[in-house]
Amino acid sequence: MSPPGNNTTNHDLMQRDLSVLWHPCTQMKDHETVPVIPIKQGKGVWLEDFDGNRYLDAISSWWVNLFGHANPYINAALVDQLSTLEHVILAGFTHQPAVELSERLVQITPPTLTRCFYADNGSSAVEVALKMSYHYWRNQGCPRKTKFISLANSYHGETLGALAVGNVALYKETYKPLLLETLTAASPDCYYREHGESWADCSQRLFADMRQTLEQHSEEVCAVIVEPLVQCAGNMRMYDPIYLRLLREACDQFNVHLIADEIAVGFGRTGTLFACEQADISPDLLCLSKGLTGGYLPLSVTLATDNIYQAFYDDYQNLTAFLHSHSYTGNPLGCRAALATLDIFRDENVLEKNKQLARTMRESTKHFNEHPHVAEVRQHGMILAIELVQDKQSRKPFPWQERRGRKVYLHALKKGVLLRPLGDVIYFMPPYVITEEQIHHMTNVAWEGIQLATQA
Ligand SMILES: *Cc1c(COP(=O)(O)O)cnc(C)c1O
Repeated sequence: MSPPGNNTTNHDLMQRDLSVLWHPCTQMKDHETVPVIPIKQGKGVWLEDFDGNRYLDAISSWWVNLFGHANPYINAALVDQLSTLEHVILAGFTHQPAVELSERLVQITPPTLTRCFYADNGSSAVEVALKMSYHYWRNQGCPRKTKFISLANSYHGETLGALAVGNVALYKETYKPLLLETLTAASPDCYYREHGESWADCSQRLFADMRQTLEQHSEEVCAVIVEPLVQCAGNMRMYDPIYLRLLREACDQFNVHLIADEIAVGFGRTGTLFACEQADISPDLLCLSKGLTGGYLPLSVTLATDNIYQAFYDDYQNLTAFLHSHSYTGNPLGCRAALATLDIFRDENVLEKNKQLARTMRESTKHFNEHPHVAEVRQHGMILAIELVQDKQSRKPFPWQERRGRKVYLHALKKGVLLRPLGDVIYFMPPYVITEEQIHHMTNVAWEGIQLATQA
């Protein structure tokens, strides 16, 4: 193997890449005209390619990075872990990072969650939650409960079970014949709220559809699964915490679980450590990944209540155990990166500092509202999204074939900012080590990109 020496260029690596790799979520033919960008190193919010160009990582490398690339504190923890234990089977064995991480997760997550089940990516955490919920009801003598309710425009991952409970057509439609049948309730998304209607009123009004779905189907439903407050992959659509409060009450009333998928919104993205806190609710199952390791390593966890845990706890002969595993379940390196990430939250007053950063993001994008092709600028904490439309009045979108958002992406790259619009929705979800000056740079570049991309 030839290690990337000092004289490796973007061009070299790009050529080699395109002859052997198949990239995620990509039409590979696009790379005939737009290069893949080989990254040599990262530091803080910056990524640097082999030609020396730098890119501000405004999307935290697909929403995973929290405290910057090559964070010295997390690096040191990992080096230490690497010299101690890289991995061990988690069935029949355990290790210090998994025990400590579980103790701390139980402590910082909503109060009724007492058990941590590990996997190695977000989709798998969702699969675990779905299987646990179904299996719980089966163990309780309710085998008729086999369905899940999810929200229109939701996203829960790409594996078949997770894809089935999601509802973004772009990812789901092709595979529909392969998927579980699910029930879909209206999204509490406030984008289409009526004139003069508040977010809270809008989300509350849209709850009626969920209530009706529960009324009609609760006998056959295991759980409702939602992304609290922000439907991230669903174009960063947002809603009011009141919906979660109403949903928690209804799930209790109708005897179905509430699964909170905080894979994207957890770890401070919406302003609180977990989005559920803003509704003051505790789900029955909570899925975490992405920011869990600070963006370092693939790890996920599904937290469960004691009530759920107890329904599996019995003599082996009764065959009630949860026989689910992944080879890398609870990998020590991942757990150690997660512990270092939690240390930073504990020691550096992160959520308080983020309030100022969120304010700066808001102020820095105020004028976007006046743009003739901006329908809405919306924000929950450290996530801010700008929805571009052809017609501001009617909110008629641009024809998707025009790929306007992609033009913003290409402009931003030229100007050293990594954005990755979802269709025509431009958003910022930066690492928490971003400075106010860098925020202004990021929003200025996005503004220029929007100007260019929305010209006729
Ligand atoms: C990213 C994401 C997932 C899937 O996680 P992967 O690690 O990509 O499998 C699930 N749910 C939500 C809300 C996500 O944003």
